Amino acid sequence: MSRNEDLFCRAQRTIPGGVNSPVRAFRSVGGTPRFIARAEGARVWDADGKAYIDYVGSWGPAITGHAHPEIVKAVQEAATRGLSFGAPSEAEVEMAELLCARMPSLEMVRLVSSGTEATMSAIRLARGFTGRDAIVKFEGCYHGHADSLLVKAGSGALTFGHPSSGGVPADFARHTVVLDYNDCQGLEDLFVARGDQIAAVIVEPIAGNMNLIMPRPEFLAALRRLCSRYGAVLIFDEVMTGFRVGPQGVQGLLGVEPDLTTLGKVIGGGMPVGAFGGRRDIMAQIAPLGPVYQAGTLSGSPVAVAAGLASLRLVAAPRFYDQLAARTRQLVEGLIGAAVEAGVTFSAQSVGGMFGLYFSEHCPGTYEEVMATDRGAFNRFFHGLLDSGHFFAPSAFEAGFVSAAHGEAEIAQTIAAAKAYFAAPRD
Ligand SMILES: *Cc1c(COP(=O)(O)O)cnc(C)c1O
Repeated sequence: MSRNEDLFCRAQRTIPGGVNSPVRAFRSVGGTPRFIARAEGARVWDADGKAYIDYVGSWGPAITGHAHPEIVKAVQEAATRGLSFGAPSEAEVEMAELLCARMPSLEMVRLVSSGTEATMSAIRLARGFTGRDAIVKFEGCYHGHADSLLVKAGSGALTFGHPSSGGVPADFARHTVVLDYNDCQGLEDLFVARGDQIAAVIVEPIAGNMNLIMPRPEFLAALRRLCSRYGAVLIFDEVMTGFRVGPQGVQGLLGVEPDLTTLGKVIGGGMPVGAFGGRRDIMAQIAPLGPVYQAGTLSGSPVAVAAGLASLRLVAAPRFYDQLAARTRQLVEGLIGAAVEAGVTFSAQSVGGMFGLYFSEHCPGTYEEVMATDRGAFNRFFHGLLDSGHFFAPSAFEAGFVSAAHGEAEIAQTIAAAKAYFAAPRD
């Protein structure tokens, strides 16, 4: 038995499913999850010592490559000064200033320890600010695992949502309306019918949790226009896209300003940091300034913030995003070329350091279209490439990530492996 198999057996005895976050269990693609022993640059090594070029990047945070020496050093130095104080520290102020300076829609920001905490807090804040209960989300967008957000569409588009997880009271879910991503008419109809009840619309402005789906320009414009007209808070969940698609997230890339933004992943540089922020008048409703309660024992942890600050300094290097985007495009174009050569039905796209691969003729634009892609073909591709030392996200419905540590050589090796796979695919 391999070490991976052995660990997976052992893990399942004491950890539900053997993992601490479900997608890691490989249920979607089948097979044994790789237990990672270490990671450096563009690579991870599993418990059997096998190396993989990594396109998961810890699901986004590892944008400068794994274990970047400057981030590791910042963590080590911060740790020697104490792990946690339960009192404010200067690094948190620096982090808040840096986030507000980089993202123009942030006037004030609060740090938390995960993306889930950020979205959960932003929703509560929007409800407190507007005095309204209803929130709107879109099918296929993921915003962490808070009760109000684990909701799927009801029978009609304008009806109440239903829980998409056990343990979420139907009474909570009915305050969440779920619409189709990129559906401007559905959005317009909802606001006309119930605009005065809607506290917030939360959206991934580029969706990265149903594979990668680009927004239609008129979709984000409609969101902005309708939220402003009806007094609803527009929340951009940029936990994944923030500092990933470009230096100012999707809002900078596509020029649409939300009222609140949620951040995570890259801003922690691999450590647990999340944030939510935005308009000063809204943020002023948070305790201790206002009545909306939000807190955290380890929020703004000095060690985590040190990693985040180091990471944010690294991505501010000149041309960082140009180079990252070019490298990512190179991967995507190479994979498309390999598929075309072999006559495989395949499409792909990228934005910044994020990409989507689809076993379908065209890049999907809706949740329905993503669901219609050939997941069997993806699963076989996944395992083919895993065997040859390439770690893609273990699901057809996740985006992929390239880091600044991925060089020409890593991209070329991956494209060559894809060519070899497409020439002799698995049954
Ligand atoms: C990852 C993610 C979250 C949740 O963040 P966690 O740190 O896993 O809680 C929320 N929203 C989006 C868009 C994400 O990609």
